[in-house]
Amino acid sequence: MSKPILGIIGGGQLGSMLSVAAKKLGVKTVVFSDDIDAPAQKFSDVFIFGKYDDQNKIDEFISQVEIITYEFENIPYETLNQINKIKPVLPKPSINRIIQHRLAEKDFINKLNIRTTQYVSISNKSELYTVKDLLPGLLKTTTLGYDGKGQHLINSIEDVNELDIDFSKGYILEKLVRLKKEISIIITRFSDKKYEIYEPIENIHEDQILKQSSIPADISDKILKESKLWAMQLAEELRYVGTLCVEFFIDRNENLYVNEIAPRVHNSGHLTINAYNVSQFENHVRAVCNLSQIKLNKISNAKMINLIGSQITVYRNKQFESNEFFFDYLKKEIKHKRKMGHLTTLF
Ligand code: AMP
Repeated sequence: MSKPILGIIGGGQLGSMLSVAAKKLGVKTVVFSDDIDAPAQKFSDVFIFGKYDDQNKIDEFISQVEIITYEFENIPYETLNQINKIKPVLPKPSINRIIQHRLAEKDFINKLNIRTTQYVSISNKSELYTVKDLLPGLLKTTTLGYDGKGQHLINSIEDVNELDIDFSKGYILEKLVRLKKEISIIITRFSDKKYEIYEPIENIHEDQILKQSSIPADISDKILKESKLWAMQLAEELRYVGTLCVEFFIDRNENLYVNEIAPRVHNSGHLTINAYNVSQFENHVRAVCNLSQIKLNKISNAKMINLIGSQITVYRNKQFESNEFFFDYLKKEIKHKRKMGHLTTLF
C-alpha cells in the first residue's frame, strides 16, 4: 500500500519529532511554518515558509500533501476548516475548535460527567466581585494561553481591585486546586474503540512550564484506572483520530480533575520515544495516515527533563551514559523560558 504524504502545520520540536517518526515509517512530510528558522525543516522532506493566512502559501501546501495534521492547536478554525474541504485534516477542525477555547472545552468535558476544576466565564471586572466562592482562583484567557501565559492568580478581592487587564479577550476564572500531583495520559485513537494508551505520566511544573515527566507515576490504582477511562471516553466522544494528551490534577483529597486536553502530541510524552516500542509521534503518524496499529509495549521506566533557555548549553558539551538520550531542538536562538531540548533517562 502506498503511503500518503503528510502535511504538518507548525515547525517546532513537535513538528521535528513527527517528521522523524514519519521518515522511519516511509511517510514523506511537508512542514508549513510561519517561522523562517523553524527547526522541523531540518527533518521534513519539504519546508514551506509562509504566514498562516497567506492563501497562496496555503494553496501551495495543500497541493503537495494528501493528509494534514498540526503540531499546535492555535491555528484559526476557519483556516483548518477551509483546508479540510480540500484535503482531510486530522484531528478534525471541529475538535480543535472545542479544545482551543477553555470555556467550550470545560463545558464539553463536564457534559460527559468528567470532573474539571470549578469555573465561570468572566467578561468584565465587576463579575469578579460576585464569584468569591471561586477564590483563590486563576483568571485565564479563554484562548491562546499556554505555559501559564495570560494567567493571573487572584487570591482575594483586593487582587481584583488591582487588576489591570483588557477583558475584551474573554476570560475564565478557575478555582485553584490544592495540588498533590499532576499527571497526563497520552492516547492514540485509530478508529471506533481502537486505541493505544500509554500509562499515566507524572509531571512537575516550574513557573507553570513543564519541567519533568516520569513513568511510572506514583499514584493509586483508583487514579490510574479513572484517568485512563476518562482519556478513552474523551477520545471516543470526540471521534478523535491521532494522538491526544489529557492533563490532570490530583488534589490533596485524591480527587482527579481534567485540567485540559491537547489535541496533539505532547511534551509530557517525549519519554515515549525511548521508553516504548512505539512513540506518541509514530502512533500519531500511524493513526492519521491510516497505517497499521501495533500493540504498545513498555520497554523501560523513564524520566524526562526539559532543558529550558540557557540550560541547554552545558548539555551540548556533555558526555552521556548509554541510558541517557539527549535531544537538541536545534533552535536558532536561546531565549528565556524557551524549550530548547530535553533529556530522557531510562532506569
Ligand atoms: P494551564 O496552562 O492551564 O495548563 O496551566 C499551567 C499550570 O498551572 C498547570 O499545569 C498547573 O501547574 C497550574 N494550574 C493551572 N490551573 C490551575 C488550577 N486551577 N489550580 C491549580 N493549579 C493550576
